[in-house]
Amino acid sequence: MRPGLIDTHCHLTFGDLGKQAEAALVRARDAGVSEIILIGIDAASSKEVADFAARHDGLHAAAGIHPNSVSEVGENEWDDVAEMIRSGRVVAVGETGIDLYWDRAPLTDQIDSLERHAEAALVEDLPVVIHVRDAFPRLREVLRPFGPRGLRGVIHCFGGEREDIHPFVDWGWAISFAGNLTYPKAEGIRAAAERTPLEQCLIETDAPWLAPVPRRGRLNEPALIVHTAERLAEVKGVSFEEVAEATTRNARALFRLP
Ligand SMILES: [Zn+2]
Repeated sequence: MRPGLIDTHCHLTFGDLGKQAEAALVRARDAGVSEIILIGIDAASSKEVADFAARHDGLHAAAGIHPNSVSEVGENEWDDVAEMIRSGRVVAVGETGIDLYWDRAPLTDQIDSLERHAEAALVEDLPVVIHVRDAFPRLREVLRPFGPRGLRGVIHCFGGEREDIHPFVDWGWAISFAGNLTYPKAEGIRAAAERTPLEQCLIETDAPWLAPVPRRGRLNEPALIVHTAERLAEVKGVSFEEVAEATTRNARALFRLP
């Protein structure tokens, strides 16, 4: 039997994908996706994905405040997210991180928020799901004290260059590859994938965004993760089965899936 794939980062309940979430789940199972991690971006969506995951087999949730949202959210937002993180209903903390591509929140607010998430993850012994865009130097700086303290995590939707996998892989973190791995100009991402040990690679869709080639530009959904897995296999010079087996094992270990 083909090993099931795990989509480690998906916003299944968002926007147009949310309207067809149940149908997308059926297509995902048909495509061999056995489990999906649903990611929150604020208190409301974190609760929403945890509730949705609780009603479906093979779905898990993460709670956090997206770096682009940290300025919009209310005063009590973090308290609600922290409560979710302590509740035992989530398998990860996030997404959190630093985004200097969109100018939606002051950097100091993003850093404060990231540090809170990282501390909470350490306390609960959960992995952090890190969003980083145009900000690897800052991210390294902020997380530098946390790696040696045993913080576990994943750099989601990796979009950097070959060297940007460090120091995260050295801390035993995972690097998660999304549909952008398949894009023609993504040489840097593929170089990073080549260098990341297979034991530390994860795959994800980040749906509804970033559909992989050959569906680029369309609505993304978990079933399409197959294209990213195929491309990762090509880059690593291994079979599809090996990639499926390794990324699924890695995801199970990082998120401590039952
Ligand atoms: Zn995301």
